[in-house]
Amino acid sequence: MIKELNLRLLPEEAVNEQTLRQAVCRETGEAAEKIRAVRVLKRSTDARQRVIRVNVALRVFVDEEPDADECRTITYGDVSKKKTVVVVGAGPSGLFSALRLIELGLRPVVIERGKDVHERKKDIARISREHIVDPESNYAFGEGGAGAYSDGKLYTRSRKRGSVERILHIFCQHGADASILSDAHPHIGTDRLPRIIENMRRQIIASGGEVHFRTCMEKLTVRNGEVTGIQTREGQVFAGPVILATGHSARDVYQWFERQQIPVEQKGIAVGVRLEHPQALIDRIRYRRPEGRGDSLPAAEYRFVTQVDGRGVYSFCMCPGGFVVPAASASEQVVVNGMSPSARDSRWANAGMVVEIRPEDMSAGRLEAFAFAGFPFDKGSPLALMYFQEQLERVCRLNGGMRQTAPAQRMTDFMNRQNSSTLPCSSYTPGLVASPLHFWMPAFIVDRLHEGFRHFDSVSRGFLSREAVMIGVETRTSSPVRILRNPDTMQHVTLRGLFPCGEGAGYAGGIVSSAIDGECCAERVFEMTGGSR
Ligand SMILES: Cc1cc2nc3c(=O)[nH]c(=O)nc-3n(C[C@H](O)[C@H](O)[C@H](O)COP(=O)(O)OP(=O)(O)OC[C@H]3O[C@@H](n4cnc5c(N)ncnc54)[C@H](O)[C@@H]3O)c2cc1C
Repeated sequence: MIKELNLRLLPEEAVNEQTLRQAVCRETGEAAEKIRAVRVLKRSTDARQRVIRVNVALRVFVDEEPDADECRTITYGDVSKKKTVVVVGAGPSGLFSALRLIELGLRPVVIERGKDVHERKKDIARISREHIVDPESNYAFGEGGAGAYSDGKLYTRSRKRGSVERILHIFCQHGADASILSDAHPHIGTDRLPRIIENMRRQIIASGGEVHFRTCMEKLTVRNGEVTGIQTREGQVFAGPVILATGHSARDVYQWFERQQIPVEQKGIAVGVRLEHPQALIDRIRYRRPEGRGDSLPAAEYRFVTQVDGRGVYSFCMCPGGFVVPAASASEQVVVNGMSPSARDSRWANAGMVVEIRPEDMSAGRLEAFAFAGFPFDKGSPLALMYFQEQLERVCRLNGGMRQTAPAQRMTDFMNRQNSSTLPCSSYTPGLVASPLHFWMPAFIVDRLHEGFRHFDSVSRGFLSREAVMIGVETRTSSPVRILRNPDTMQHVTLRGLFPCGEGAGYAGGIVSSAIDGECCAERVFEMTGGSR
């Protein structure tokens, strides 16, 4: 017999299958030896009350053997002799579109400017060690895209177009732990992501697709208003309809569109800093327990959002038990982001703290004072917000010591608009340099962060802390540009055969929504090539 139960347990009762079995026996009165397995269907921690509870939905196998595998598997056929589709970019949107193309009987040829995920790791280590950013192999570029060395958070607010669950099952099929299917806030962790990404690549090749590393698309090839393929920097041509999944850091791709006068439009972004606290402090605040999280609770998370002067101020991509990382895609920039290992067991908690910026803030001159900081750009360009991002990243480097060391300020000093004479110990391995962020960051952002922090501290006492450090700058929260596409066919509005895809096209944000967008683009390509399901 299979029973489904919803239980509200103390954290120590929900630690592992053994403690869950004990709870099930107590709740159902079943004898322990009759229970063959307990599967967690959903799990979430409720820390709103003084006594913390873990809500679990369970499937209990009483006197019945459990089914072998929780994960649904897809059979990928041989597509070696099928029509070719060019996929540019091996981030989540590119990889998931390639796998979906195979499912639909089309042959993906994946073009990736960076290196495979293992070679890439060496370049990433050099950023911290030698302060050298390889412009083709870094936290943004290379196999797995921006999602490879990340926290691997797999939750998304977007439920449109396709199924989140399907994406999670595909991750499981390629090696992710089955717990991502049940956790309310699933995440994989940067230590586990590379193997999963590698398995996806192996699957693409085993099915007859191709994956080309260190191969950078220079331009699209176009005949009579139709994209016929791509040309690489080395002059190699790959023919077929194109899924363009190049991510939000491929500024050369946006510039190519602008030079060709192919329609793109500005898109709002969010800009700010990474804020790092000791994890123990966040545990005490969020769990409201002076003793911290103990052994049975996960590293605490937070999510804050408010409005200040008509713009959103919010926490972004929080990484409990994680690290702040140097996420620039060129040596002349300093950009920070965050990642965590699967155990989320570092001493720090970090999150982006960002302020919404709309295209009209640029054209109305609200960022004007900053725009004269020495890097002039055309404010009327559809790429104006991209140039603003880039300018802020360069100014950040100037203020951070002209290496990958990052400018930083204690949170309380920022609030008091004073320099930090010392900085707390940080997870950011290239190193921090004390700098008055309140002074050189745009007032449009600084003033709103001030108000935002005051508000976050009022709802979560202790959040505004001298132990917290702000690290500049967080600029790559989403794409500053939208490559316009028809919402039904997902093809570019003027170029047939081009499918702008994922975060870089301005239609997704985060791993899961980019993966879903990748799958949707593959389906539209299939329809365009005459396929029906
Ligand atoms: C450090 C970090 C941590 C993050 N943590 C999370 C998280 O925990 N959860 C989450 O949901 N999101 C996270 N994100 C965001 C997430 O990674 C992105 O939203 C997601 O990767 C976007 O997917 P994408 O495929 O659209 O683009 P990308 O992942 O950016 O992939 C684009 C790919 O295209 C390649 N490319 C670019 N130009 C060319 C060209 N001309 N020719 C060939 N190839 C090209 C790039 O090398 C890259 O591999 C994180 C990002 C970073 C940087």
